[in-house]
Amino acid sequence: MVYFVGAGSGAADLITVRGARLLGEADVIIYAGSLVNPALLDYAKEGAEIHNSASMTLEEVIAVMLAAEAAGKMCVRLHTGDPSLYGAHREQMDLLDDAGIEYEVVPGVSSFCGAAAALKAEYTLPGVSQSVIITRMEGRTPVPEGEKLRLMAAHGCTLVLFLSTGLLEAATEELLAGGYSPDTPAAIVYKATWPDEQVFRCTVGTIAETARDAGIKNTALVTIGGFLGDDYDRSKLYDPAFTHLFRTGTGEGEAR
Ligand code: SAH
Repeated sequence: MVYFVGAGSGAADLITVRGARLLGEADVIIYAGSLVNPALLDYAKEGAEIHNSASMTLEEVIAVMLAAEAAGKMCVRLHTGDPSLYGAHREQMDLLDDAGIEYEVVPGVSSFCGAAAALKAEYTLPGVSQSVIITRMEGRTPVPEGEKLRLMAAHGCTLVLFLSTGLLEAATEELLAGGYSPDTPAAIVYKATWPDEQVFRCTVGTIAETARDAGIKNTALVTIGGFLGDDYDRSKLYDPAFTHLFRTGTGEGEAR
């Protein structure tokens, strides 16, 4: 059995209870050493076989899983954040399907959630934005035509840029071309939830120079949008006048 486990965004105690239990039971652990906090390996049992996938190919990762399965061992594949975002676990699952090996996925705290916590921010503020676009600048991995950053930016909603710290000059151009004004609030969150987490608040116009001045080159997210500003509407859900399924308010209304 193989478990794809989300390690969470950094802090070792942000893994789920289920993920930590499985890590502790695993005979074989393959972890993404470029981004997973090595402190997570403290959950491993004595004698567990540990592989760092940073230097491995997909085929090598699968070979370790197949060998574990053949020996009747339990294997945890530890991915950073939540595996469903830029985790490349689909291709592993497909090869396990081909090999007839069973697997399960255990979600994790994605770094975009860790970043919101670091910022003490809510991405979906009423009256500001009700949508979050998770995207990236095009790098060696192409981005589909309809998802070019300037098209994403045209929505003006909350936007979280993954995997783009080395491309911030070009990203800024796209964000501005798409329609964010240069003074739209932005923030760079470096190593969200790690012990050495850092937060840099800036604007769309100053993202690139802020990262340059701070020497930020990787393991960072850029968040953009009015959610980082001061103005928003109160929620309907906790409005005293608002009636919903679980509470009768003093006024009209029923839907969120
Ligand atoms: N599956 C992961 C993302 C993997 S892609 C998740 O759910 O978070 C790797 C990119 O994620 C990095 O280039 C960086 O942009 C971002 N990232 C991962 N961990 C981070 C962290 N702790 N703080 C800020 N950004 C992080």
